[in-house]
Amino acid sequence: MGKGYAGNTAALPFWAKFMKTLYDSLNIPPEHFQRPPDVVALDICQDSGKIATNFCPNVVKDEVFRIKDRPTESCPLHQGATTSNRFKKVY
Ligand SMILES: [Zn+2]
Repeated sequence: MGKGYAGNTAALPFWAKFMKTLYDSLNIPPEHFQRPPDVVALDICQDSGKIATNFCPNVVKDEVFRIKDRPTESCPLHQGATTSNRFKKVY
């Protein structure tokens, strides 16, 4: 092992301290950082309460639902432009 190896070990304590400070400030243990498996985040149309399309004017971003309670239909109120979008691809 040469000087590079020595340099890496010297840098490690600083990095570990930095990471610990980061996690402490977030107050989130890294092993609990993942979202629970039965929860999903969806973009929801405020007008219909269904899953937002690209054309919904009022969207709630990353609304969290339990999987069994989540809306499964996309917004029926703002789908008109979907058709014209399809036409754009033709030309
Ligand atoms: Zn909508």
